[in-house]
Amino acid sequence: MKDRKLLMIPGPIEFTPEVMRAMAMPTTSHVAADFIQVFGQALDRMQQVFLCPEGQPFVVAGSGTLAMDMAAANLTEPGDQVLVVNTGYFGDRFAAILERYGATVTQVRSRAVGDAPSLEEVEAALQRQGYKLMTITHVDTSTAVRADVQRLAALGHQCGVLVVVDGVCATGGEELRQTDWQVDLALTASQKAIGVPPGLALLVAGPRAMDAFRRRKNPVGSYYSDWTLWLPIMEAYQARQAGYFGTPPVNLIWALNTSLSQILGEGMETRVARHRRLSKAFKASMAALGMDQLPVRPEVAADTMTAAYYPDNVTASVLGHINQAGVILAGGLYPTIKERYFRVGHMGAVTPSDILTTVGAIEYGLARAGHRFEPGAGLDAAQSILLG
Ligand SMILES: *Cc1c(COP(=O)(O)O)cnc(C)c1O
Repeated sequence: MKDRKLLMIPGPIEFTPEVMRAMAMPTTSHVAADFIQVFGQALDRMQQVFLCPEGQPFVVAGSGTLAMDMAAANLTEPGDQVLVVNTGYFGDRFAAILERYGATVTQVRSRAVGDAPSLEEVEAALQRQGYKLMTITHVDTSTAVRADVQRLAALGHQCGVLVVVDGVCATGGEELRQTDWQVDLALTASQKAIGVPPGLALLVAGPRAMDAFRRRKNPVGSYYSDWTLWLPIMEAYQARQAGYFGTPPVNLIWALNTSLSQILGEGMETRVARHRRLSKAFKASMAALGMDQLPVRPEVAADTMTAAYYPDNVTASVLGHINQAGVILAGGLYPTIKERYFRVGHMGAVTPSDILTTVGAIEYGLARAGHRFEPGAGLDAAQSILLG
């Protein structure tokens, strides 16, 4: 029996063999001619994947939280007013990071866990006072709630605020048109829908964000996050020259370039449509097995992941049975209800057979946990959408 299990959590995800081969290549110098080409190409491809050809890409060693930290450190100054559109745990985290750099944070929260604040509520908040910046979590990984980035960014823009999108569980799986939607800064991490092992903070800053950064009155309050130090490096590599501030994670950047090439090879629209279809199939199977989801309406549900409540009388121990059947899922994350639900990532290189394998393993786990249902009902529901 093979001992490799299928990793279906909301990051890290399953990576393609090509990406893993790039990771395993002998490490080059960060100033080697071939690495300079690869880093430059990866930065160019970031602009294409984010659909922001005029944006300034940053690729820095760190996790998604570093990307959030960079957004807060470089775009806010002590005393700035910031609005956080909160759809879960990662909105709370963004608020905490912004406050650490001295911003005054106001949050617009969902009325219930699994909901998103309405456009009217956000608009009213934006009109109540002048904010410098607003943050939106594209997909909050704790709730699987997807925010309407396009409409929220348009509102923010009307009110003259900088719009920052935490796309850590979204970019590369959910639709994002950074320039068209007037998103001033979009950020993500390598290990989610971008499809590269953990370790890279990825950001694309539009012209308004770079202007705001250049007009700062105070130095950036973090040394490692300071774009003043990273910008010349990114500009150098994009011009196919070497630069040095901190040693780049060479193998991760080779892998990033490979993954971005695969993403662009599939095509952004095709990729988004694939995520939508696989998500629909998976969500239909959860419903067929009698499980409710955290997102209160389909319109606020992500396509990159699913968060579903356990059926009555089933506990988190079902995840152990599902693991025995060969699939690794994640438990809950939202503090007040974390014992009541589980999370499944279906993003990146995910295939219809991964969806069917996962649904099959969930059925196995539920049966072992004593849940009564019609075996095959989940598979049937998923299959009818995959075949439709
Ligand atoms: C995973 C995640 C983060 C944090 O990323 P790390 O790489 O774990 O630091 C931030 N925001 C969202 C929406 C995420 O899903």
